[in-house]
Parts: sequence; C-alpha cells; structure tokens
Amino acid sequence: MDLAEALNLALNATSPFAIENFINGRFVPTERVIDSVDPSTGQVWAHVPDSDAVQVNQAVEAADKAFKSWSQTSVQYRSTILNKIADIVEANLSAFAAIESKDQGKPVNLAKVIDVPRCVHNFRFFATAILHDTNESVMQQEPVTALNYVVKQPIGVAGLISPWNLPLYLLSFKIAPALAAGNTVVAKPSEFTSVTAWLLAYVFQEAGVPEGVVNIVFGNGPRAGEPLVLHPRVPIVSFTGSTLIGRRIAEITAPLNKKLSLEMGGKNPCIVFESADVDKAMPTIIKSCFSNQGEICLCTSRLFVHKNIFDEFAKKFSLAANALKVGAPQDDVDLGAVVSEQHYRKITSYIGIARDIGATFLCGERSLHLSNGNKSGFFVQPTAVTNISDDSRLMQEEIFGPVICVLPFETEDEVITRANNVIYGLSASVWSNDVSQVHRVAQKLQAGTVWCNCWLVRELNMPFGGTKASGVGRESAKDSIEFFTEKKTVIDGH
Ligand code: NAD
Repeated sequence: MDLAEALNLALNATSPFAIENFINGRFVPTERVIDSVDPSTGQVWAHVPDSDAVQVNQAVEAADKAFKSWSQTSVQYRSTILNKIADIVEANLSAFAAIESKDQGKPVNLAKVIDVPRCVHNFRFFATAILHDTNESVMQQEPVTALNYVVKQPIGVAGLISPWNLPLYLLSFKIAPALAAGNTVVAKPSEFTSVTAWLLAYVFQEAGVPEGVVNIVFGNGPRAGEPLVLHPRVPIVSFTGSTLIGRRIAEITAPLNKKLSLEMGGKNPCIVFESADVDKAMPTIIKSCFSNQGEICLCTSRLFVHKNIFDEFAKKFSLAANALKVGAPQDDVDLGAVVSEQHYRKITSYIGIARDIGATFLCGERSLHLSNGNKSGFFVQPTAVTNISDDSRLMQEEIFGPVICVLPFETEDEVITRANNVIYGLSASVWSNDVSQVHRVAQKLQAGTVWCNCWLVRELNMPFGGTKASGVGRESAKDSIEFFTEKKTVIDGH
C-alpha cells in the first residue's frame, strides 16, 4: 500500500480497518489490537496495534542501527527531507483533516485550519531552523591562548510520547526537531488517536526517510509507552500528556539519567479587567474556552472577571456560548465530539459535581442528544458555572473539556493570587486596555506563556512549556534543538 491507498482506505472505510506498526521502514502487524472508536458515532472504526516490549525493542533496535548514518548526514540533507514531508502532508491537507477529525472527534474545519497546517509548519519550520542554528565560540587569552568552541551533537534514539488532543500537531512538533537535529526516533502516539500517525509513516516513506530513522509503535501507555521510556538504548524522552503520567515517567526514569522533556496538564486562568473591550474580546475568549471541545492544554478553564463588569460579561458570555453549534464534526460546527466515552464520563462527572455543590450554571448543564448516526457519539454542550469556591474541584482540577468556571474578582493583587492558586502553570491570558497593567500582571502570573489581549498566538522561535506541575523544559527553535542535542565544548590550546 502507498500513501494514496492508505488515505483512501481511511477516508472511505465502511468497516474497521487495521493500522500497523512502522518499524525499520516496513509496516508490521501485531496479533493483539485495540479498538479505536470514532467519538462522533461511538462505533469502532479502526484496529490499532496493542504493542508491547517486543515491538518496542524491535523499533529501538532499528532506530539505533540507523542512528550512525542519519546522524552523519548534513543539515542540508535533513532539511530537504523535512521539507518534502511538509509538502506531501500539505498536498493531502483535506484528507488528513477529515481523518484527524474522524479519529479525534474535532470539527473537520478546525483540523483544516489548525491541526494539519501546524503539522506542515512544524516540519517546514525545523527544516529551516536547523540551517540557521549556530554555535558559541570564544578566544580565551589567559592563562593560555585557546580557541573554545561548542558543537551540538545528536544524542541517539529519541522516545517520543504524544497525547490524543492534537495528534498530528503535537507528534510532528517532536519528530521534526528530533530528526532535524540528527537523532532517530521511536514514537508512541496515543492509543485513542493513532490513525494519522500511521498515515504519516507513509509520508515518511514517500519523502525518502531512510529505513529505521523513524519508527512508530502503537499501543497503550503501560504496555508500549513504558518499555519505550525505560529502554536502555533510548537516552532521550520527550513526553506530552497528563501530569499524572508525566510524573510517572519522571519517577521511573530517574535512575536512568535520561534527558527528559515533559509537557503536562494545565488549569489556565483568563483575567478580564474592567478596562477590557469585552465585545471585541468575547469571540477570542469564547474560542479560548471551547476550541477543540476545550481539549487543548492551553484552553481557558478559569475565567476571572472584574466585579464591576461581571453581570454584563456573564450575559454576553452565555449568549455567545449558547450560540456555538455542537454536532457532527464533518458539518459546519464549532464543537465536535469529545475524544472517548471514558473522557465524556470524566467531563460530565464535573458537571455533576457542579450540581452537587450548588453552582449556578450560566450555560450548558443539560446533556446533549444528537440524532441518527451521531446518537451514540460523545457530545458535551459548552458549559459555564459560577458561584463556586476557589478550592472546589472544578477550580483546582484539569477537566480538559468544554466546562468553564467564571468568577468575579475585585483587585489586581487578589486576582493574581487566585490565578496562581493551582498546582499548574501552563498558560494564562489577560484582557485589559491598560498597557502597564497588562505587563505588570504578566510578570506575576505563574505560567510558561501569558497572552495579552489575544490567545493561542504562537511564534515557534519563542519558548513554549509549563511551570510547576505543567512541565519541565521548553520547546522552540532554539530550545528543541538544544534538547535534542548534547553540547560539547572543544578547547584548542595550540
Ligand atoms: P496521558 O498522559 O493519559 O497520555 C499521553 C501519552 O502517554 C499517551 O500516548 C499514552 O498512551 C502515554 N502513556 C500513558 N501511560 C504511560 C506510561 N506509563 N508510560 C509511558 N507512556 C504512557 O494524556 P492524554 O489523556 O493522552 O492527553 C491529555 C493530557 O495531555 C492533558 O492533561 C493535557 O493538558 C495534556 N497536554 C499537554 C500539552 C502541553 O503542551 N503541555 C499539550 C497537549 C496535551
């Protein structure tokens, strides 16, 4: 099968089809499989390999063997390959978007403007970033004259673990810099959303990525993810996912001296000051709460609004949230289905908690029943609650769905303290027309990224990552290349 045939199979499947591991440039089936469910119908649509340590070992072996020659290729060669990958994905953008949507539940229209273009951008960005990467040098004069210079060298086999919310987008944000820097890769995508990663393997073949340079092993965390992160020939692990699993990976790999990057959960505050232009801000604030069904690690989940504008804001917010269309992802909708039944139950359990603690619902609350083919899908209405305390579970725990807490505040100092009052520190947004206030507050918020009068604007040269329980390390042109390389200082004392 080639890419065109694989795309065709996934696009037109009328019964579940099997995807296969990609090891040493070949597609390899497994005996055991996991059912992958289309969240908008609740029906199994693909069978994903349920890999274990055996397949992981084969993939690591292949990547380890390929490392020597790949790490010695020129950056220009690697850049050309990454650009080819970007071109091929871009040429098939609509098909990738339709399949990402079917696998994950997100609207096709969102995948067309966010997921797939960003995957293309990731490959193109690191294809050029690596060409412009330079190293430090210094001519030392005392006590001896010596030329000191740094070389950044690829490390080996990178173990890459990614989540289900932005499957292609986040996986490519790891594969692209790892390859650009000269490492080989074993990736383990989420068992809930594996299909586009399997298609990406066909793209690698078509782009001429040599055998063994990229390997993709599918399966769940304990059986496939853990042997990968623990493997002695995997010196570098990049993980994006929940704080629970990130901490577990940190714990179990601690004695093994691996280089570790952890991008984890969040509970992001959005602060709306009295001077904010609420009408202008509202469409972006709504997106920050409900895009991708609220399943973006950077989505707003705690909305603090100044008390003097709270009532008016709450009315406008509910109107805008109620106007969002939830429905079949292939239609012109704002929200599709949440990723799985298990996640649907988790999200709706928080709606139950809100009811139990006597919260006031600004919108949402009722469950949503779609008809026909979508009646067994996992759909949740945009939901916002108020009248809850800062230490309630709704305000402290990551819900990772379209359920938002909206609370009033009175003073700047108070809202900063309350915004920082969670274990997480991934991102925050601040809306105010007072420029000095915006920057004063941004300095004090505990977050890796603070958006001021905007949201989700990303420039890949800038560091991205979390503080506190949201992560360890940064990703960007410079940070990712540094992460995927080892710096060596060479001193020439002649
Ligand atoms: P998860 O932690 O359950 O799973 C993430 C990945 O880890 C999956 O591929 C999973 O199979 C694997 N995994 C699970 N157990 C493992 C183990 N013991 N060893 C190795 N791998 C294991 O996360 P999820 O539910 O897929 O994704 C949602 C979470 O991801 C949310 O918490 C969200 O905030 C977070 N996230 C963070 C960022 C970020 O940039 N900080 C981006 C996207 C998502």
